[in-house]
Amino acid sequence: MTSTSIATAAYLVAALLFILALAGLSRHETAKRGLACGIAGMVVAMLATFWLVADLATDDSLVDSGGGLSIALLLVAVVIGAAIGLWRARVVEMTGMPELIALLHSFVGLAAVLVGWNGYLEYDDLSRDNAPTLLHIHDAEVFIGVFIGAVTFTGSIIAFLKLSARMKSAPLMLPGKNWLNIGALVLFVLLTIWFVADPHLWLLILVTVLALALGLHLVASIGGGDMPVVISMLNSYSGWAAAASGFLLDNDLLIVTGALVGSSGAYLSYIMCQAMNRSFISVIAGGFGIEAPASAGDTDYGEHREIEAEGAADLLAGARSVVITPGYGMATAQAQHAVAELTRQLRGRGVEVRFGIHPVAGRLPGHMNVLLAEAKVPYDIVLEMDEINDDLAATDVVLVIGANDTVNPAAAEDPSSPIAGMPVLRVWEARDVIVFKRSMATGYAGVQNPLFFRDNTQMLFGDAKQRVEDILQALARIPA
Ligand code: NDP
Repeated sequence: MTSTSIATAAYLVAALLFILALAGLSRHETAKRGLACGIAGMVVAMLATFWLVADLATDDSLVDSGGGLSIALLLVAVVIGAAIGLWRARVVEMTGMPELIALLHSFVGLAAVLVGWNGYLEYDDLSRDNAPTLLHIHDAEVFIGVFIGAVTFTGSIIAFLKLSARMKSAPLMLPGKNWLNIGALVLFVLLTIWFVADPHLWLLILVTVLALALGLHLVASIGGGDMPVVISMLNSYSGWAAAASGFLLDNDLLIVTGALVGSSGAYLSYIMCQAMNRSFISVIAGGFGIEAPASAGDTDYGEHREIEAEGAADLLAGARSVVITPGYGMATAQAQHAVAELTRQLRGRGVEVRFGIHPVAGRLPGHMNVLLAEAKVPYDIVLEMDEINDDLAATDVVLVIGANDTVNPAAAEDPSSPIAGMPVLRVWEARDVIVFKRSMATGYAGVQNPLFFRDNTQMLFGDAKQRVEDILQALARIPA
């Protein structure tokens, strides 16, 4: 058996492990097993790559051409990469995960651009004259790979800046923005035809600049409420960028893995668009067809009412049913353990407690589910938005813990709102609503929330973790 066929067999095993990883990650109960499959797949893939490079290094005909240097460089890259990866994984806060993921997507994009450029530069004029037909295919792969990679690179950087609040989450509304995007795509198609017919370095430079600008504009044009879809779309783009690199490097595993990431990311974006009542095409085309919102969301809704922890504990102690709708603020406050303890205490008193999870609550798909699972909240009381929404009208008390956009009635009732049409948790239908937050500030989408001014809503100001702990103390003083 040759080294290449052993490596190909190993790549096949790795690809199967990646498929098992995706299948496992689709459910809480099997997520850890899925993760273990993913890690095993990556180890197999890396060992096979080492095997191939080591084989090249010992090939007598190649020793002089730098085979030994390749394996040394590979080792250095793996050690540096693993050290940085381990350090980031240890220090990253759960709230910082979305921006870290966006940054990692940008690396995949950048790698695809570099692989594409290398793919062009390593072919000299002599090899072009020898195999012209194959080179047309190769040139198309270079051009498309560089384009997808560059769009992913700048798009992910903008997503990173928006998610880490280094840039405003409001959409950039350049005049004729839809035509700018369409024009860029048409130009890309024309340039690809030109490059395949007559490859020139300046064309490659031009498409790189075009794609960098397009990625920047596509993501900057998307408003806060639609960012979750963009993130999963960038995940998908990074997969296609990796697949494009796989074609150039003649690496089957990279093609298969890239296609897996690309298609699962695209499917996730599609599901999220359906859940958010958004047009898939509109979002991936940089908010195509979405015009600037008519209202800036600064309507005067009147006065809000406030409540203290003692009052909240009284309401909870007297309730038969309680629904908790957590949001990004629960993650920043790291309040999940206190919330889990409150859940245990209330259930111990015979109160029915359930959780209502909005598909885009937090800053990452599944963000709230991960936090609640970490705090050991039983899965069977954690319900999706569609499962809980019809029960909210018959609920005594809803605790909105650090959620804002995902419980905003304007999405359902105000057609001029920037988040109009987005399905939300209808918490205002409950008998009493208590909102935990630190101020009257807006949520991620930057839209005022009329829920805070409703007659049945009371604001409990302060850090969510601190306030839940205050309620626990007050509850301990109320006889069961
Ligand atoms: P929001 O971002 O709308 O609101 C979070 C609220 O939490 C804020 O109003 C803030 O108010 C409050 N908060 C922050 N820190 C604390 C704290 N320590 N204690 C108490 N409250 C706190 O959250 P939602 O989860 O409701 O909505 C998610 C938003 O993020 C949506 O717009 C969604 O589109 C977007 N998004 C979601 C992604 C995903 O994949 N899930 C990805 C990207 C964006 P205050 O400052 O007054 O305390």
